[in-house]
Amino acid sequence: MPKQIRFIKSAVLEKDYPVHKKAEVAIAGRSNAGKSSFINGLATNKIAKVSSTPGKTRLLNFFDMDSFVLVDMPGYGFAARSGDEIRDWHKMIEVYLNSRESLAGLILVMDIRRSWSEDEELLRRFSETQGFPLAVVLTKADKMSRSQMLQAINKLKKETGLSAVFATSALKKTGQEEVEDYIYDNWIKA
Ligand code: GDP
Repeated sequence: MPKQIRFIKSAVLEKDYPVHKKAEVAIAGRSNAGKSSFINGLATNKIAKVSSTPGKTRLLNFFDMDSFVLVDMPGYGFAARSGDEIRDWHKMIEVYLNSRESLAGLILVMDIRRSWSEDEELLRRFSETQGFPLAVVLTKADKMSRSQMLQAINKLKKETGLSAVFATSALKKTGQEEVEDYIYDNWIKA
């Protein structure tokens, strides 16, 4: 169900995280993976605009989604960035993922045509060591046939050992509701 989403605040440091009583769902992905488009598909208003505002692209952006708080993490994919920036990103997500008590799970957004890399593996390891669930949202499923899409899902499940892998298309508006239902049933309601 599309809903209105309210921007709460941006933060880098733990002391600046918002105080509230809801569960948090974090969302991360390589730059250009389709994260903003996916988030916009969850809302009737275009919240991801906030996250791409200059000055906010390197921060954690917190949004109230009614039943939970969505934490939009800055995009990764480090080729064009300096060593310092990479370290800052690591530090920020590490502190958040390792310390946030209200964290219910992490959504990893990935272009369906890409393969699993070190950056995704880093996030998978955080989820394993910290014991929070991880779901993978494959985007741009409209770029391939249905059988290729099913193949991509199965390949990723095998490679990563993850069971929550979903294919979506922001263009065709498919798959998003399945992800929302999964998250609500398994991470929020439970
Ligand atoms: P972000 O950097 O991860 O937030 O990625 P964006 O949401 O800005 O998307 C990056 C590019 O991929 C844009 O040109 C989008 O229009 C395109 N894109 C995103 N989702 C889809 C999709 O489901 N299908 C197709 N064909 N293109 C998409």
